[in-house]
Amino acid sequence: MPPFATRFAPSPTGFLHRGHAFSALTAFDAARAAGGRFVLRIEDIDAIRSRPEYEAGILEDLAWLGLEWEQPLRRQSEHLADYHAAIETLRERGLVYRCFKTRRELDIGRAPHEPAVPYRGAPLPEREEAERLARGDAFAWRLSLDAAARTLGGFEDLSFVEEGAGPDVETGLIRACPETAGDIVLARKDVGVAYHLAVVLDDALQGITHVIRGQDLFEAAHIQRLLQALLDLPTPTYRHHGLLVGSDGKRYAKRDNAQTLRELRAAGATPQALRAEMGL
Ligand code: GLU
Repeated sequence: MPPFATRFAPSPTGFLHRGHAFSALTAFDAARAAGGRFVLRIEDIDAIRSRPEYEAGILEDLAWLGLEWEQPLRRQSEHLADYHAAIETLRERGLVYRCFKTRRELDIGRAPHEPAVPYRGAPLPEREEAERLARGDAFAWRLSLDAAARTLGGFEDLSFVEEGAGPDVETGLIRACPETAGDIVLARKDVGVAYHLAVVLDDALQGITHVIRGQDLFEAAHIQRLLQALLDLPTPTYRHHGLLVGSDGKRYAKRDNAQTLRELRAAGATPQALRAEMGL
């Protein structure tokens, strides 16, 4: 068995709050307890929302929390060519197709409060596709669930081990249901590469044996399991943890302007007190 290795993989699109601290400390403590590796990965593929000052702030906060990570850290924006090579591999194997549908076209008939319907499509006929490309129409590369099912002989054998729990207390051996997400977008003009693809490639490359992260990413494991199977990558063990909630009963989130670690720090908080408050 490869040595235990886990990671914390923040996106530098804001400063860290308590929820991140809980996730990072949980992963770090697990690595320590197992005598294993702890990796920090900066998931900055979203070039529009990621900012160097957030990354710098994240590193400062994690060091303040007492975390130590392997050097050099991996910054996804420095490896875009690797992710595109993987998409090319999938393309050669007929697993992805160009989708020209605009967001507006996909949303036709959907009321604002209704969730987006998972999209399932197919490549355009060759001539039509050539015409649209010649016209310079924008497109997304989507992973075809139909082609994936043909390649793998169905998804019945796709599973992963959950040592934590999903939001509905799913635990143990879980059958992956990638169908729920539809044909996911793997690359698009504004999103050079999708989060799921970068994550599975990096987890494999960095030898991650245990993915420890919040339950909000449990559904992602279903999609990521499919990508691992298609790209012939190992499947790590998953440990999704419950999300910390504030005194208002709501989970911490960047968009709710949750108090950041740097604010807590400035107000005199200590890592020890924070750990105690989180039961760590
Ligand atoms: N970068 C993701 C986030 O900030 C986490 C990815 C993961 O842990 O798999 O939410």
